[in-house]
Amino acid sequence: MRSFRRIQNRFPTGTGFSHLFMNIFIKIPAMLVLLTGLLVSPPFSAAASDFGQGGGEIVVVIDPGHGGDNEGTKENGFCEKEMTLVTALALYERLSQYEGVTVYLTRVDDTKLSLAQRAAFAKAVEADFLFSIHYNASENHELFGSEVWVPLEAPYNVYGYQFGCTLLPALREKGLFIRGVKTRRNDRGTDYYGIIRESVALDIPAVIIEHCHVDEVRDYPYCDSPEKQQDFGYEDADAIARFLGLSSSSLGIDNSGGPKDPFLQEVYAFDTSKVVASTLIDTTAPEICGVEHVSEDYEGLRATIQVTAADYDSPLMYYDYSLDGGTTYSPRQPWPGCDTLTGEYQDVFQVTLDIPEGVIPSIRIRAYNQYEATAESNILDGYGVFRRPETVTSPGEPESAEAWGSAVHPDSPDPSASTEVHGWLGAHGETQPEEEEEKNLRMRDFLLVSLLAAAVLVALTLVVQILQSARRRRNRYNRKR
Ligand SMILES: [Zn+2]
Repeated sequence: MRSFRRIQNRFPTGTGFSHLFMNIFIKIPAMLVLLTGLLVSPPFSAAASDFGQGGGEIVVVIDPGHGGDNEGTKENGFCEKEMTLVTALALYERLSQYEGVTVYLTRVDDTKLSLAQRAAFAKAVEADFLFSIHYNASENHELFGSEVWVPLEAPYNVYGYQFGCTLLPALREKGLFIRGVKTRRNDRGTDYYGIIRESVALDIPAVIIEHCHVDEVRDYPYCDSPEKQQDFGYEDADAIARFLGLSSSSLGIDNSGGPKDPFLQEVYAFDTSKVVASTLIDTTAPEICGVEHVSEDYEGLRATIQVTAADYDSPLMYYDYSLDGGTTYSPRQPWPGCDTLTGEYQDVFQVTLDIPEGVIPSIRIRAYNQYEATAESNILDGYGVFRRPETVTSPGEPESAEAWGSAVHPDSPDPSASTEVHGWLGAHGETQPEEEEEKNLRMRDFLLVSLLAAAVLVALTLVVQILQSARRRRNRYNRKR
């Protein structure tokens, strides 16, 4: 079975340039949708975002989220109000080393402050921007990754988006999953997050930085010590400096030339009078979500399937899978090729799933877009029982059982297009070299076992022939008598 690796490419609309390119491949029925808009190259932006180009000293307020009896997230031994303070103090210390900026903190100890008080403080010091520092957790402990929340209204929305696009690639570089730059609306139609609402009401652009999820195994290794929480503060400071075009002779950092990254140059050239469309919530479910058989390795306890999915409004961000027709699901997996900043994701990919011994699976996939709207796929069944061969499995040789699990698509033309998922817990994406090595090892083991099997077969045939000729001789002898 061929593997198709494709990327759906989307750029935020309502910006200084118009570029819409959608390419969705659907195997059955074959369909090709191609919409190509006018492509206009954005003007080269020599400086940082125009936010920092007003001249004079810039005033930045750092807001460590929560405090006092408002403790924030308390999960997994973490206490958010303490973490945000550690990060914010490090941020303050580093950002203060840049020239042309005055930095304030809304709190420097375990004080309780209302959101209105924080915004009023920012107004009192004539802040140009407020950055609110947070750590996240989800109700069902299933989410992982970093995100930036921004205001609903222009131009605050665009400034927030520009900053988010400056910071998040640095967090991705650390290894974190990027959940994007987004807005959230309350029942009254205004900004859901109070610190953003109160600040914007006082004409101060504000964002919330949710660094990572303290309750998810893929995220907490990034924040489980004060040093790591300080590292987030340093990364925030450097991103703020890049966004504002600030330089530091003591740190040896010169941001006066603006970003070299073409994506960021485009983002900094956005029309600040229009809201960035990709930051607005997408309430409609992914339009396409289907699964197909690719191959089964019954004795290796693995099934490879092909997923085809698309959402026309926002990128697909996670998927999970069910082996019981949709009753229970695996932990969330990052969607292959997902880039929530450019809107890209892979719309067709193959994945190999571990199937528990003795199970007849009914496989189903659930696709999540950037705003948690989901779609369930068809159910794939018609499988037999997955079971390891008893003759090969012996307590003394656990490796030989592994030898049968050569389910890493040797026929795949592009190995990076396929993913392997092991069990419910060890479900991280594997690095390619390890996969290659594993594949080679398995191939060697497989050849060895095949050789052994052939030798046994030859021996058996010989024994049968010897027995048969012995019987023939006995028969001849009996007939003679
Ligand atoms: Zn918080």
